Amino acid sequence: MSIDYQGILEKIQQEVQPLIGQGKVATYIPELAKVSPHHFGMAVYCLDGRRFAVGDAFQKFSTQSVTKLFALALAFEREGDAIWKRVGREPSGNPFNSLTQLEYERGVPRNPFINAGALVINDILAQRFVQADVAVLQFMRQLADQPKIEFDRAVALSEQKHAHRNNAIAHLMKDFGNLHNPVDTVIDSYCRQCAISMSCMELAQAGSFLANHGTIPWSGQVILDSSSAKRLNAVMLTCGTYDVAGDFAFRVGLPAKSGVGGGILAIVPGELAVCVWSPGLDSAGNSLAGVMALELFTTMTARSIF
Ligand code: GLN
Repeated sequence: MSIDYQGILEKIQQEVQPLIGQGKVATYIPELAKVSPHHFGMAVYCLDGRRFAVGDAFQKFSTQSVTKLFALALAFEREGDAIWKRVGREPSGNPFNSLTQLEYERGVPRNPFINAGALVINDILAQRFVQADVAVLQFMRQLADQPKIEFDRAVALSEQKHAHRNNAIAHLMKDFGNLHNPVDTVIDSYCRQCAISMSCMELAQAGSFLANHGTIPWSGQVILDSSSAKRLNAVMLTCGTYDVAGDFAFRVGLPAKSGVGGGILAIVPGELAVCVWSPGLDSAGNSLAGVMALELFTTMTARSIF
């Protein structure tokens, strides 16, 4: 039986209304504090090319940590299993910007989706590309089939000016020998990467190769082999939503990556990618209305990996 995705998205939009505006917009990056918490958008990109959207699904927002997924995919594609020597793949159980675990685990981040791990991935990319952030941008343009995707320079600058904690993390890893490029280079590149602006529909299309065993569905281009795509989905499931990945799996049951801009990209293997955006965050830093929307989505469609 075919699923009425459009009808389901519209129902979800109605049901999450009471939550919209309730979460807190990220303020530690001052430029993000200017975004209204009242937005809500959701987009579905099916492997057969059908698209469905509601609300602000075509409005650009700051993708932030969602870019960590694409940076990891690019590094994994280039370096293969060598990346796991420098970054782990276990849930951290700690906030995404925590320093403490990094000290007693001797500068090797728990996973590529906490800030420390994403800085290491950026450092790995910087050895392969002239500019790691530009490589990630071009990769996302290619995956979304959208050459106009850009950095939001105001957001990047705003984060660079206030990146004290990320600087501390990078210096600690440098001290342990797990950062090869200068700290400033890696931080600047990482902040620009996080400042890539995209819409829900663009992100859903960009993520669809992960639902399709690593192959871009509309072009047939192989980005990752199916075994590597499986591994990336596994890291998303266990580490993609900060220190509440267990609760997210319980409620939603899909591999996903969230960001403090309020976006969450989730994968239904073999079928589709779905992206939701609402800037109000819960206490862990995930979109409050976004998590509920995805929970309703897997409940109403009976599409989860479990
Ligand atoms: N750029 C943000 C940071 O480094 C990304 C964090 C996030 O989205 N969780 O803090």
